[in-house]
Amino acid sequence: MIIVLTGAPGAGKGTQADLLAQRDGYLKVSTGDALRKHIKSGTPIGKIADGIMAKGQLVPDDVLLKILETELAGTESQVVLLDGYPRNLAQAQELEKTLARYPVAGAIQLDVDRDDLISRISGRIVCAQCQTPYHATMNPPKKSGVCDKCGSTQLVRRPDDAPDKVATRLDVYDKNTKPVLDFYRAKGVCKTIDGARSTEEVYKDLKATIQDLSRSRAQ
Ligand code: ADP
Repeated sequence: MIIVLTGAPGAGKGTQADLLAQRDGYLKVSTGDALRKHIKSGTPIGKIADGIMAKGQLVPDDVLLKILETELAGTESQVVLLDGYPRNLAQAQELEKTLARYPVAGAIQLDVDRDDLISRISGRIVCAQCQTPYHATMNPPKKSGVCDKCGSTQLVRRPDDAPDKVATRLDVYDKNTKPVLDFYRAKGVCKTIDGARSTEEVYKDLKATIQDLSRSRAQ
């Protein structure tokens, strides 16, 4: 079953999904991470996605559907935390129809206001190898310039984290992704969590909410 993690860029979905995967054994599927891997390996999908992502815009739905089919294959018996999909109504409908064998238990929005999002993203660095996110001052790696998780020294700023691209991504979120919340709200399975608190506080709240949604779905 799938739990959709949603929220604006910088809301902390990736950080929280990593924690939940490490500590609690959930499976994290991130469409952004999958796309970046395609770009790094120079696949045909990577070639389509590269320029679009660098501008902060959405990659075409058919490309995302292919990615998701690959990433979800074999996960039928697991609880999957889906980070980065659906990002518009058409994708939410696709998930329900074409990918119906992976039922959605609910969607959780991490809510953070725009000023906080901008300051988080402006200090964000990510590991170019394993994609673990850090923040230059709020969440630096233990050893400066070295990834805690994989030891790589390639900690970089994502091209789409440049300020003008961030503005585009926030606008795309408001216009395209917010309607997805209404889609799940209408089904009674949309929860909102205050994402402006500490990582640990958000983690606790998120874990309890995931457990609630999974239990209700299983009943
Ligand atoms: P963030 O949530 O911080 O914006 P992601 O890593 O989730 O970062 O996504 C980065 C970019 O990847 C998006 O701006 C978009 O170009 C592309 N992308 C990721 N998921 C999708 C999706 N479901 N549909 C279209 N484009 C996507």
